[in-house]
Amino acid sequence: MSNPILVIGAGVAGMTAAIELADSGIKTVLVEKLQTTGGNALNLYKAFPTDDCFYCFEGNRWRPGIRKCFYRSALIDQPNLDLKMDCKVESITGPPGKFKVVLELGPQYVNPKKCTMCGYCLEKSKAFSLLSPQCQPQAVVYNPELKDDETKNAAEGCPTKAINLDAETSKETLTVSDIIIATGFHEMKPVNMDEYGYGTHPNIITQLELAQILDPNGPSKGAVLRPSDGVPAKRVMMVQCVGSRDENYYPYCSKICCIFALKHAKILTQERGDIEVGVVYMDIRTYDRYEEYYRETRKSGVEYVRGRVTRIDPQKDGSLDIIVYDSLLDKYLKFSVDLFVLSSALEPPSGSSTLIDTLGLSSASGFVGSIAPETEVVVGNHIYACGSALGPAEVPESVTQARAVVSKILQGRK
Ligand SMILES: Cc1cc2nc3c(=O)[nH]c(=O)nc-3n(C[C@H](O)[C@H](O)[C@H](O)COP(=O)(O)OP(=O)(O)OC[C@H]3O[C@@H](n4cnc5c(N)ncnc54)[C@H](O)[C@@H]3O)c2cc1C
Ligand code: SF4
Ligand code: SF4
Repeated sequence: MSNPILVIGAGVAGMTAAIELADSGIKTVLVEKLQTTGGNALNLYKAFPTDDCFYCFEGNRWRPGIRKCFYRSALIDQPNLDLKMDCKVESITGPPGKFKVVLELGPQYVNPKKCTMCGYCLEKSKAFSLLSPQCQPQAVVYNPELKDDETKNAAEGCPTKAINLDAETSKETLTVSDIIIATGFHEMKPVNMDEYGYGTHPNIITQLELAQILDPNGPSKGAVLRPSDGVPAKRVMMVQCVGSRDENYYPYCSKICCIFALKHAKILTQERGDIEVGVVYMDIRTYDRYEEYYRETRKSGVEYVRGRVTRIDPQKDGSLDIIVYDSLLDKYLKFSVDLFVLSSALEPPSGSSTLIDTLGLSSASGFVGSIAPETEVVVGNHIYACGSALGPAEVPESVTQARAVVSKILQGRK
């Protein structure tokens, strides 16, 4: 029998690859460093290009007809698929085709197979939480750093005895035939870019943070409120290319931030009442079918300003005055706004360079580099990559690449 295949990262790309391999009868181990699968797509609310909601992507196959299925999870119920959460790859040695992989697994405080999500522990102690209503596996998580006087009682009172507060880390060694890297991207937190004031005022946020505000399951249940005081936001200003196309940070274009900024502008103007939106940009890069977002948002009154943000002045009433140099009009403009949203660069996740070096791969600005354009998803002997691990990518592209990897592997096994 062939050795299993290892998929690193359980975002949409890794989940797709793992589920399709497992469905094809191949034993697959999917490791995820966090305590839930889904990656960056977990809390995005609506998804371009269709404006469908993101919820049912999680845990179900990427097939329209069965997206709404709540009871069947391809990740949990597929016998060929071994999902390991809170799991890190400690080392990879051995020859291609017979890689020896050592995994470090975090303590399994809550057994997801036993947790029925009854909510008892959540009511009792702050140390238990639900990462997202869409999380897979469907189970609460425990954070020992938030332990309080009621934690022990909460654990003892769990009706299914799903909680083990004494759980410890463990190690596991596997031999795998192939490795698929699906480690995705991270949204840069622009704390060092003084010109944008991120971290200095609660109403200066990133696009990923705005996505969580727009999410009906998010902290404000979808209401667009100023984080500083909970007052409804009426004016939102976005700024593009924060840290991207910038020699001091990331020289590349992050490719999808124009599109998700415009998706958010559309939701704000068309769904959430009379919110005014402005976008400060260098270039708007809405490639292919996404040009429609640009046309639609222009029609619905979004104000586009080509130029640079030069100053941010916080006001006593919680608003922000944004001074912008408009390069088309050659003059400075002042905008008074409630929320200032930064389209921050999409960077390689932490640990990416170690993985690239360990496997002897090439790097493309810190993401996994492919060896030749025509092979695209194949980056080495028995090593593949897909999705945003290869650089910022939208969901359809990530899923297509994951499927391309699976079909390459299946061809090789015939
Ligand atoms: C604000 C915003 C809005 C967006 N809106 C849309 C949209 O509307 N439509 C659309 O198509 N796309 C959208 N995207 C893009 C979408 O998020 C990506 O296409 C998608 O997340 C890519 O999936 P992925 O699996 O490649 O990577 P990720 O989602 O980044 O998943 C990677 C996974 O790997 C895990 N991981 C990383 N390193 C390791 C490691 N060493 N070991 C184990 N696990 C690891 C991570 O924890 C994560 O779970 C948006 C992105 C942002 C930031
Ligand atoms: S009490 Fe037990 S079953 Fe209920 S949510 Fe907590 S861990 Fe899950
Ligand atoms: S996609 Fe748009 S916002 Fe993002 S880096 Fe490229 S041009 Fe800038």
